[in-house]
Amino acid sequence: MSSWLERDKSAIWHPFTPLKGMTEPEMLERAEGVNLYTKDGKKIIDVISSWWVNIHGHSHPYIAQAIAEQANKLEHVIFAGFTHEPAIRLAERLLDILPDNQSKIFFSDNGSTATEVAIKMAFQYFHNQGIEKKKIIAIDGAYHGDTFGAMSVGDRGPFTAPFDPYLFEVEFIDFPDADKEDEVWKHFKGLVESGDVASFIFEPIVQGASGMKFYSAELLDRMIALAQGHNVICIADEVMTGFGRLGPLFAADLLEHKPDIICLSKGLTGGVLPMGVTSCTEKIQEAYRSNDLMKTFFHGHSFTGNPMICAAANASLDLLLTDDCNNNRERINQRHLAFLKQIENHSMVRNARVIGTILAFDINTEKDTSYFNEARHHLYPYFIEKGLLIRPLGNVIYLIPPYIISDDDLDYVYTTILEFLNSY
Ligand SMILES: *Cc1c(COP(=O)(O)O)cnc(C)c1O
Repeated sequence: MSSWLERDKSAIWHPFTPLKGMTEPEMLERAEGVNLYTKDGKKIIDVISSWWVNIHGHSHPYIAQAIAEQANKLEHVIFAGFTHEPAIRLAERLLDILPDNQSKIFFSDNGSTATEVAIKMAFQYFHNQGIEKKKIIAIDGAYHGDTFGAMSVGDRGPFTAPFDPYLFEVEFIDFPDADKEDEVWKHFKGLVESGDVASFIFEPIVQGASGMKFYSAELLDRMIALAQGHNVICIADEVMTGFGRLGPLFAADLLEHKPDIICLSKGLTGGVLPMGVTSCTEKIQEAYRSNDLMKTFFHGHSFTGNPMICAAANASLDLLLTDDCNNNRERINQRHLAFLKQIENHSMVRNARVIGTILAFDINTEKDTSYFNEARHHLYPYFIEKGLLIRPLGNVIYLIPPYIISDDDLDYVYTTILEFLNSY
């Protein structure tokens, strides 16, 4: 029998991983709290919450128990024509904590489907009313997922090149860097006032995959207000920012003008099982409430509203809404801010930044700053060797830890990063 890693290599195609020349994956045995434990006995602290999802850490016993109990009671059922308590409770609880203007929950499977649903919901909103509006605005550098609609409204680059001919047309505005705000505002205003814009999709305040880039909440607020004044549906993709990542429960809590549609996933189930949610306002539903069957929203997935996943999400919400969790997010923020002071003037560091539980900075390399920047290939194995899962985006190092990470673990993470900066 060949080794597990040989068997993996022969049978499995991993995400975002080249088939040739890939670094060998770590073979995991188990995970608990912030720690991943490999089969050969190594401990790795998961400082990025495994692709930004595990907000309460790994194998949380409370969430595990909720899933097990639900699995023994009602594990799955078709969600058209049937409903159940875990889904109803989850929808009500989400509406309780989402901005007041949100009034309906549509379930799907992940972050990409949550944005697909949002885009389709917005286009059909106009279609159902016989209004011709074709354009959609997105922001340069955006990431909304890997399915075709989500890719279309995302950044066009090396990752999308093979599919570019098949992606639909989108009006991209520049990323509103501080020195570009006036320019971006003018471009946006011109587009919105043209009258042909159906929707505007954005990652509120922080663009994640493009490298944890922050932009002005005040500007976004003005853009939403202007867009809504012209009947443009504003879609906030809170797949990364949702569930406390920026401090408050949602990025929308930092805005005065609330989006029409909100997309959620990642932290929704505590990162334990996949689920997407698209919430919307009464105004959106109005266009679908009709005796005409053809105005139905014809969208669904086999596992929509799966009871075990709803149970996991309900358990995760229980944990999220405790004072403990709130205090932990505040504590991480304070610790990040203190570390920021330590590194912001370091010669290897550019643009150090903190919002909520996210800390990010750019490595000062002379070279190209794209994802393929060489920095990344040195950094990832360097930190794994030190027992830290840190997965740089190009030359951007970022921390997005589970909220339960201890002060001691944070100390170790900060010290290791400083050592690295001093030796680079
Ligand atoms: C991760 C992410 C997605 C895609 O979510 P998946 O569950 O990976 O499909 C969409 N939007 C944002 C902002 C994300 O960070």
